[in-house]
Order: sequence, then structure tokens, then C-alpha cells
Amino acid sequence: MESCIGIYKRCFLGFEIETNPTKIIFRIYWTLQQLLRKKLINSDRCWRCNSINASLIHMLWKCPVIYLLWMEVLAYINKVLGKSLLFENIHVILNYIPTVWGLTKGQQNWILRALMVAKRLILKAWKDNHPPPFTQWSEDLRQLASFEQISYRKQLREDIYIDIWKPFIDSL
Ligand SMILES: [Zn+2]
Repeated sequence: MESCIGIYKRCFLGFEIETNPTKIIFRIYWTLQQLLRKKLINSDRCWRCNSINASLIHMLWKCPVIYLLWMEVLAYINKVLGKSLLFENIHVILNYIPTVWGLTKGQQNWILRALMVAKRLILKAWKDNHPPPFTQWSEDLRQLASFEQISYRKQLREDIYIDIWKPFIDSL
């Protein structure tokens, strides 16, 4: 169990918090435009919405099909925090949390986790025509909360867990 948590943290938490996930995404996931340039496909049309010039930003954020998930996720984040934050691609893709939003460190850390769980879900369903279900995001986030609770408890730092996760746990 202990090693599982360690691996999970490195692969999941480490990926999202301690490194720049966008760099990794750009390295691993070739966009349709890149594939077209390399003549590996004949069209750079998005397979979800059929629009042309499907960039990585489109596939992760702007695509109207994927945005259905984002609308639910971002509305839920605002509901949990009691805020009306206006998320743009710079916040979601680049993990940029503006100081003018006036969030606590715990709130910022929770948003980063919530966003990364959504991006991870989108990447896992990269070739699907439909957006990943909101219920799966919610379940993945609950699972992450459970892992972090165990992990922080082992470090005798449950205060950090509470600081990050309490609003979300209270909302369940
Ligand atoms: Zn699209």
C-alpha cells in the first residue's frame, strides 16, 4: 500500500504540482497540426467538433465538446469555493492562479488539483468523440483526496490536507 501511494503521488501529484504539466503534455501529445505537418494524417480537423486547425489548446480547452466538461468542472469549483472566478485558458492550461483572485494557498492548491484531474481525464479520453463524464472527474477527485489524506497523515501533516481539501470534502 505504501509503495502504491508513493507511485501514485509521483505519477499523479508530482506530475501536476512539482513539474510543468504543459511541457509534458506538449512533448507527449502531438497535435493534429503537428501530425498534418509530418504528413501522418490528411486533415487537422478536430475529431470531436470537426473544426479545422485543431491546436492543442483547442483539444484541451476550446473545443465546444470538451468545453461541456469544463463548464461543469469550473462551475463546481466556484460552488465549492463560494466564488465567481472567470477561468480562461491561461488559468486552466498553464495553471496560472492570479493573485487578484485573493485565494488562500489551500484554495489555490485545490484548484490546481481539480484542474489537473480534469486535464488528465481529457488526455485519457484523447481519441473519444464525447467529453469525459463530469461524474468521472468528481470520482477521480474524491480518490485523489483519499490518497492525499493518507499521505499527509503519514507525514503528520493532516493540517495541510484539511487546508487544501476541507471545502471540497464539506461539499460532498
Ligand atoms: Zn473540437
